[in-house]
Amino acid sequence: MAFESLSERLNKAFKNISGQGKLTEKNMNDMLKEVRMSLLEADVNYEVVKSFVENVKEKALGQEVLDSLNPSQMVVKIVHDELQVLLGEEDARIHFKKQGMTTVMMVGLQGTGKTTASAKIANYCKNKLARRVLLVACDVVRPAAIEQLQTLGKSIDVEVFTCGPETSAVETARQALAYAKDRQKDLVIFDTAGRLHIDEALMQELQQMKDLVVPDEILLTVDAMTGQDIVTVAKEFNEQLSVTGLIVTKMDGDARGGGLLSVRSITNVPVLFVSNGEKVDDLEEFHPDRMADRILG
Ligand code: GDP
Repeated sequence: MAFESLSERLNKAFKNISGQGKLTEKNMNDMLKEVRMSLLEADVNYEVVKSFVENVKEKALGQEVLDSLNPSQMVVKIVHDELQVLLGEEDARIHFKKQGMTTVMMVGLQGTGKTTASAKIANYCKNKLARRVLLVACDVVRPAAIEQLQTLGKSIDVEVFTCGPETSAVETARQALAYAKDRQKDLVIFDTAGRLHIDEALMQELQQMKDLVVPDEILLTVDAMTGQDIVTVAKEFNEQLSVTGLIVTKMDGDARGGGLLSVRSITNVPVLFVSNGEKVDDLEEFHPDRMADRILG
């Protein structure tokens, strides 16, 4: 990885400081400067970094250096722990209805991996949770999105419902609900249209679908490779639709996860899954400790 890891940076910063072995306000400030730089390099939003560093400082000043740790190790540990807190719950999962049909609406910008993630989640729920899943092709905007979902569905042996590209997304969703009920499906996942940018037409369509389906979950796919824009996009989706979970995609790239940290911190929406490849099996439950390691570098 091109970045110098935070622990390396802190160790280096601490070596240059006289009176090694003791944590003082002065060397603490030097170390926090490294923390700040490192997080900004990892693409964490400026405001998030600012409050994060203040928080770490407060925690560090209030703590004795543990015998086994030197001050830089201690700061790394506090940073790691705080990252984990900020990244949120270990066990955030899809909330299934106790009985009957659970509905999940997948939303996100075009190209973020929404269609792929719909199939991955279907596959996961079918295999690990023994759900009877129906995938619904409501992206009638992007050419080939329907066929893409059908091909994915075939590969995981999950039925895909479509009314074709001529039928509106909302009408497709309406018919899919009746179809799923008839066949006693207990999980229905709606793949919806994205756009390159958020626009009113997209949000109106998603809102109409939401009103009709009243989904148990609205999951937003966020592409880890997107820079700071990711925060604006996620905020907008969340304000308009009240997103219930995040799916971070393309974590197999070299993104360090700073964008995700910003989104998580600003929207307060939990991360449910991490997608880390193009194959249907490339989906993991979210582990905040691993993500904290990755952000630290
Ligand atoms: P949508 O427009 O949001 O539905 O996006 P797609 O699901 O069609 O994905 C866009 C592209 O990203 C496709 O080429 C996918 O194979 C690819 N893709 C999706 N998720 C991942 C991922 O986690 N890692 C990688 N490397 N590629 C992904």
